[in-house]
Amino acid sequence: MVDCLFCKIVAGQIPGAIVEQNDQIVAFRDITPQAPTHVLVVPRRHIGSLNDLTADDDGLVGEMVRTAAAIAARHGHAERGYRTVFNCNADAGQTVFHIHLHVLGGRHMAWPPG
Ligand code: 5GP
Ligand code: ZN
Repeated sequence: MVDCLFCKIVAGQIPGAIVEQNDQIVAFRDITPQAPTHVLVVPRRHIGSLNDLTADDDGLVGEMVRTAAAIAARHGHAERGYRTVFNCNADAGQTVFHIHLHVLGGRHMAWPPG
């Protein structure tokens, strides 16, 4: 296993506040929430960034996005709205190099992002 924080959370070696999981993904609360709801949806398999995705991952990415929508709905954000974000590499502010889909909801969010 690569030395990766999110691989360790997926493996249960580091605790995470898990809100949902299945054979492909694990979703857990962000340790520094930027909104009342801030959940990270991550694949169990290590993928460093969006740049590393292949066509074989299309089903996995669909699972991540649908899981994000389900989590937002379960937290009551479907009608008012919520934001999903994949940060990729330095200019976008990616800090953990195991892809993760941020699910942010429960407050108004500005556009464009900072
Ligand atoms: P990025 O900036 O790479 O898109 O997002 C990484 C996210 O991981 C950040 O929002 C950060 O707060 C979160 N994070 C960093 N370390 C941990 C941790 O140990 N546990 C959890 N649950 N989230 C973390
Ligand atoms: Zn990883």
